Amino acid sequence: MTTTVKTTCPYCGVGCGVNLSLPANPNEVVPPVSGDLDHPANFGRLCVKGSSLAQTIKSDDRLLSPQIDGQVATWARAIDTIADKISQVVKDHGPDAFAFYLSGQILTEDYYVANKLAKGFIGTANVDTNSRLCMASAVVGYKRAFGSDTVPCNYDDLERCDLLIMVGSNAAWTHPILFQRIVAAKQQRPSMKIVVIDPRATATCDIADLHLAIRPGSDAAIFSFLLQESARMGLVDDVFVTQHTNQFDATLQQAMESTPDVTTTAAFCGVDEHDLMTLSQWWASNDKAVTFYSQGVNQSSSGVDKCNAIINCHLATARLGKEGAGPFSITGQPNAMGGREVGGLANQLAAHMDFATPGALDLVQRFWQAPNMATQNGLKAVDLFQAIEAGKVKVLWIMSTNPMVSLPDTAQVRRALEKCELVIVSDCKAHTDTTAMADVLLPATGWSEKDGTVTNSERRISRQRGLLPAPGDAKHDWWAICEVAKAMGYGSAFDYQGVHEIFAEHAGLSAFENNGTRDFDIGHYRHITQAQYDGFTPTQWPVPEGKPEGTKRMFADGHFFTQDGRAQFVPINPSLPALKATQQWPFVLNTGRLRDQWHTMTRTGDAPSLAKHTAQPYVDIHPEDAQRLGIIDGALTRLSSPHGEVRLKANVTKSTPQGQIFVPIHWTQQFANAAVVSNLIPQTVDPLSGQPESKHGVVQVERI
Ligand code: SF4
Repeated sequence: MTTTVKTTCPYCGVGCGVNLSLPANPNEVVPPVSGDLDHPANFGRLCVKGSSLAQTIKSDDRLLSPQIDGQVATWARAIDTIADKISQVVKDHGPDAFAFYLSGQILTEDYYVANKLAKGFIGTANVDTNSRLCMASAVVGYKRAFGSDTVPCNYDDLERCDLLIMVGSNAAWTHPILFQRIVAAKQQRPSMKIVVIDPRATATCDIADLHLAIRPGSDAAIFSFLLQESARMGLVDDVFVTQHTNQFDATLQQAMESTPDVTTTAAFCGVDEHDLMTLSQWWASNDKAVTFYSQGVNQSSSGVDKCNAIINCHLATARLGKEGAGPFSITGQPNAMGGREVGGLANQLAAHMDFATPGALDLVQRFWQAPNMATQNGLKAVDLFQAIEAGKVKVLWIMSTNPMVSLPDTAQVRRALEKCELVIVSDCKAHTDTTAMADVLLPATGWSEKDGTVTNSERRISRQRGLLPAPGDAKHDWWAICEVAKAMGYGSAFDYQGVHEIFAEHAGLSAFENNGTRDFDIGHYRHITQAQYDGFTPTQWPVPEGKPEGTKRMFADGHFFTQDGRAQFVPINPSLPALKATQQWPFVLNTGRLRDQWHTMTRTGDAPSLAKHTAQPYVDIHPEDAQRLGIIDGALTRLSSPHGEVRLKANVTKSTPQGQIFVPIHWTQQFANAAVVSNLIPQTVDPLSGQPESKHGVVQVERI
């Protein structure tokens, strides 16, 4: 008899439900992976990556045993080595000499125990994650406006709106199932308008009624203009603004000064005035409007301001908390949201509380019975790796991520890891660019083997369920963290009998002394049993005590999580990226994802069918730029920046504007020597979110 579990796709933030099947008889033919018809994210659909998951389950490159300095070791010895070294550096240099660098790939329960160990027991807030590269700007944008990191919308809103503005998102490739839902909605209601705001003409533009190919980084000006147009056209909801918001007048005044008219704004953004006015007219005539935004907005030195420029427009017109309306940030990773929920960013404490939240430190300390609470923000990703190179952080535990490929200026990351006294890497794979830098390697269980929860872009918590046995000596990440905690003398606080107990504790903390004053509350689950956890059905938080059905949409009542309960407008002065193209570095470099690969290919690189779409790394370059440089389609080119150099084949295409180039992020030293595009990206970050400006480098392009 075939055994089937309902689990969740481990790739993008859509969070599709997956049926994973294992026949008892190996000769029986069953599809090992299929879409879960009951899951509200995908209703049975899977994109090509999700459909190929079965090809990635068995890898020849699994890490099967702990290793210390390249030698196979027992788990007991590895745990003791880690615990002893952390204890020693904390004693000699203080708790901030230790750091976790986590991942939106790990499960909420893994994140929870890592955060608890670091912030409550070791006493450092140096817990950051590759989610910093993904949605940190969206988090700060929401918090500035709503007082909380709360996504107001849900996926139904994408289908029910009359105007969908997609900003900095190639959803056709990066969030394919959401894109399919949008395509289906548009086919059913052709009157639904879709606007794409993106420098490139991507596959997402295929369904656009209007494409604004803006100057890179100028997004905020579009929404600053839209705000003052909202006032000019009488769209401002005076009752809502008066009763539920602060600082509208100052924000509008700033918008009128920054983007006074269509001519100024169109020139700043490099778009046609007529197109800008078309957007304005559609904004005026469609009350049901969603702005859908992703990495093109977030990965910017002014990413937070861009987010708030978007939110300002929705607050002014009261287009949120209603069906088919709202500012909707879409996360890249399967559990970027779950990490945020437990405090998996260095500037968060736990359960959506910050260090600055009044009373939060005391509350969390009492709940955890924690002996060594961190008291202030830790180091965000780029700052963390700089602190490691400076010798301030001496022990780093990297979990399920590949910073040697994904962080900007990878030469600096290499220097940092070489300097670090102890680099611990937990991973499923034996050979990645980052495992090569490890002093201690810990074999981790992977998707299809581990149990836990993830939260997708619409706040929906779903289960990942294990079905297959752990290979070799691989263990769950939460187990490894708890064992280290026990070896450090914190046994009673980390003595979980199963992963459901961690989830129950996480739920308990979210509800602890929370009388509706904090957005994240899943108190309904605080006594969840193993059987209930096994039967968990996908639910959107908040799920407070007495509301098991969860919450579909937020802010319908006009109440926000600021101290006075009112949303905050944020005056925005739109800016362009600080780094400008010059004679020496004449091209603007944009980076992003492809349809059939995922992050640094550590999983998708194992699926032969996925390589068919794009087998090799490349650089998109406009035909006129290519002709000027003597580059023909397929020719080998050298890209150089102040930080490094890569060599790539040219793909001559009009989809990328003149003066700009585009390179996919996926390839690594492991898969394509000398093609790691992060080598070229500077460590420029948004000053508020710390998110790197991965969409903007400046480079020279030459034919080799
Ligand atoms: Fe997986 Fe995202 Fe594709 Fe859904 S859309 S199947 S979550 S990769």
